[in-house]
Amino acid sequence: MTEPINIAGLTAEDVALAAQERLERGAGRARELYRHSMRSGVFDPDAVQLSERGRDLWREHFTFALPEVAQVVQEPFPSEVEQESTAKAVLRSADGLEFECVRIPMGRGRHTLCVSSQVGCKMGCAFCETGRMGLLRNLSAAEIVGQVLVARHVLGWSIRNVVFMGMGEALDNWDNLRQALLVLTDRPGLAFSHERLTVCTVGNVDGIRRLRGLGWKRLNLSISLNAANDELRSRLMPINRRVPLQTLQAALVDYRARANFAFAVNYCLMPDINDHPGAEQEVADFCAPLGRCLVNVIPYNPGTEALTRSPRDDEVINFIERLRSVGCAVRRRVTKGRSVMAACGQLGNLDLRQQARGS
Ligand code: SF4
Repeated sequence: MTEPINIAGLTAEDVALAAQERLERGAGRARELYRHSMRSGVFDPDAVQLSERGRDLWREHFTFALPEVAQVVQEPFPSEVEQESTAKAVLRSADGLEFECVRIPMGRGRHTLCVSSQVGCKMGCAFCETGRMGLLRNLSAAEIVGQVLVARHVLGWSIRNVVFMGMGEALDNWDNLRQALLVLTDRPGLAFSHERLTVCTVGNVDGIRRLRGLGWKRLNLSISLNAANDELRSRLMPINRRVPLQTLQAALVDYRARANFAFAVNYCLMPDINDHPGAEQEVADFCAPLGRCLVNVIPYNPGTEALTRSPRDDEVINFIERLRSVGCAVRRRVTKGRSVMAACGQLGNLDLRQQARGS
């Protein structure tokens, strides 16, 4: 008998085609069943009009397998008024590997979900917990979309935006990322609009070109920059030895999908590492040819093997002023989730790292 197909990684069209191939009855209900599954989080052939035989065939040939929730950790509420906090869900795949997604409050009861694209990561960025794990494997499209489905339907989180900034370099897992984007935006199903999705990369230029090839003018692209001179960036982010700043910059110039497109440029501020005199001008020079950019300054979150301390408040404010003084548009990203190891650079806990070493 052939393996059942997991609907969670498919578009409505994919399911309709697979149903035509596999089912002698009931294939005509594919879109209805798909819509119901994606919007309720439950695969239930009883929810649509089907004969008993049709229902049995659907159950035999299709599943709706979601990752299991291993653990949820939530930051304490920041205040009595602000009844929202960052939460991290550790999910477990069918083969027993764990990966994480993080719910980030955006105000007014809305949340962004930061999803993982890989278990671990091979990029080895010096400031990142996930980078210390190495890469175990890519997540499938069903496992990537599954994080959104679990967040909404199992954990009851209200998710408006999805950012690919969790564990892994999303563009290194192109086929599954592409399929996940197609599923997330599929109208009969989850129906996210392109502007609600953000792909983040450390500088995978082939991936940036492929992403451009989708022709999605409103899909957001975010760059993890962290240093804008090659010597320092190569020390912090090994990919820079293969893809120096000029090459990355050229790929981004080509990527600009529309006149008012704005890149998000992430700068994790690490005291005494990347706040040297002139760092602000280096960032401004990198951004200059790209058109509109918004530099997100993110205070460093020390992990288990800290590179340095967290910047003090006055140091963050001062660095932001320096960036503004050279013409950069800047936003301070509030550190959310530090106490539960859910903040930027902190995903990939010790247990997960041990899973990586033991494999
Ligand atoms: S920052 Fe991103 S690309 Fe770099 S090691 Fe961490 S997860 Fe991988």
